[in-house]
Amino acid sequence: MREIHHFIGGVSTPSGTGRYGEVFDPNTGRVQARVGLADATEVDAAVQAALKAQPAWAAVNPQRRARVMFAFKRLVEARMDELAELLSSEHGKVIADSKGDLQRGLEVIEFACGVPHLLKGEYTEGAGPGIDVFSMRQPLGVAAGITPFNFPAMIPMWMFGVALAVGNAFVLKPSERDPSVPVRLGELFMEAGADQGMDLKGVLNVLHGDKAAVDAILQHPAIAAVSFVGSSDIAHYVYLTGTAQGKRVQAMGGAKNHGIVLPDADLDQTVKDLVGAAYGSAGERCMALPVTVPVGEKTAVALREKLAAEIETLKVGVSTDASAQYGPVVTAQHKQKIEGYIQLGVDEGAELVVDGRGFSLQGFEEGFFVGPTLFDHVKPTMKTYQEEIFGPVLQIVRAESFDEALALPSAHQYGNGVAIFTRNGRAAREFASRVNVGMVGINVPIPVPVAYHSFGGWKRSAFGDANQHGMEGVRFYTKVKTVTARWPEGDVTDSAFVIPTMR
Ligand code: NAD
Repeated sequence: MREIHHFIGGVSTPSGTGRYGEVFDPNTGRVQARVGLADATEVDAAVQAALKAQPAWAAVNPQRRARVMFAFKRLVEARMDELAELLSSEHGKVIADSKGDLQRGLEVIEFACGVPHLLKGEYTEGAGPGIDVFSMRQPLGVAAGITPFNFPAMIPMWMFGVALAVGNAFVLKPSERDPSVPVRLGELFMEAGADQGMDLKGVLNVLHGDKAAVDAILQHPAIAAVSFVGSSDIAHYVYLTGTAQGKRVQAMGGAKNHGIVLPDADLDQTVKDLVGAAYGSAGERCMALPVTVPVGEKTAVALREKLAAEIETLKVGVSTDASAQYGPVVTAQHKQKIEGYIQLGVDEGAELVVDGRGFSLQGFEEGFFVGPTLFDHVKPTMKTYQEEIFGPVLQIVRAESFDEALALPSAHQYGNGVAIFTRNGRAAREFASRVNVGMVGINVPIPVPVAYHSFGGWKRSAFGDANQHGMEGVRFYTKVKTVTARWPEGDVTDSAFVIPTMR
């Protein structure tokens, strides 16, 4: 059986722990590879490689580091087809969607190519007599990233794109369910260094593992910062444990994004947007739209009818089928969990309009497929509304007024993203201002901010103060040093026994 190795110090390194995770082909349901799971000793080996490499990398001037990022972008682009196929084969998302996963990551790399500008500090001339003050941003040293299965290219690049460009070394612990693309990214980064005449072994290390590796990262004294993306309970645990060890931690968690539909929305376009955002990638996106809230009875009736008709046209297929809108979910266990939620929705009294259970594809009967599912008359008191399902399940929660619709995402435990569909600019503006959620779309179903803005939700969707990428990312991966310099002229001045002030 194929074995997926760590990438430590620029070398493909088999795990010696004897513990393995299974990597499935979600299309067929078969195990296609195994991945060695690191223990604390292997985590330490990756951290030591990073520690060794970091000072020389930090000493490279920012423009040359930017050239490496640029070379990396070119290398990934040149291998887009191969990487997308590899990604789809472990994740199950369709190839076009895997290319989107890679492309959104590359957009962060493009942002990181601007690092000479992003690292410019501040300067005050003449803050006092002969005194100038300046500040600079310096790398933290070694940072670590722990990433989820659902974006095995984009989310690692959110993190190491910025962390490396500002001069850190990095230890990436990707999801053990689809670990191959992160390893390829590590190898390509080394190649990008060679392309620029640099030996970058140890600057970006990729280490596989589960809780044992995560715990070792959180306890390792030489790791200065940890970026985590995954489910909320684990994000909270990572945040509490990492900060207790004195580390900087940003920990993004789960989500339950709502799409609010006002009576004046362009309903045909809204339905297209909702269906794409609810079922794309089999709903396995933290910015999916698994809840829609039509305002008013008339809107609800029309929306439901159009949604049900649109769902009829969807094609679920294997990830290599270019005509399929979405593929299988990631594991049999996850499929079971989603189908469990569908049953719970029925038991809780919601109306199951379209049932995606029991979906079977000829020739791929063992694949982890779930058909598109639609519920109506879902109530905020239901568990299936309150919890994240992370599958191709769309729930209609009817609201009678704008205020009732606004209150739903605002009161929900998650606050990642939300979208409003309307032609009324004033209503949209008021909604964006008042809603208690971190990222808002106005007629945009998946409002993932562009790379030079920052990504981050509120409430149980994110723990810590710093968002991903954009200037928030640069701040997260750097520390500010402020220098006060005096070049006195003339006679010696007396000792000062009181705190110096500016007069
Ligand atoms: P997960 O929480 O199971 O895993 C995330 C990471 O944590 C993986 O690297 C995994 O190896 C590690 N991990 C697993 N169990 C652990 C434990 N007990 N202790 C410590 N570490 C552990 O998440 P997932 O299923 O891979 O990804 C889906 C989740 O990620 C969803 O909840 C989704 O909403 C969320 N997500 C959030 C964002 C965001 O930006 N807010 C983005 C993408 C995904």
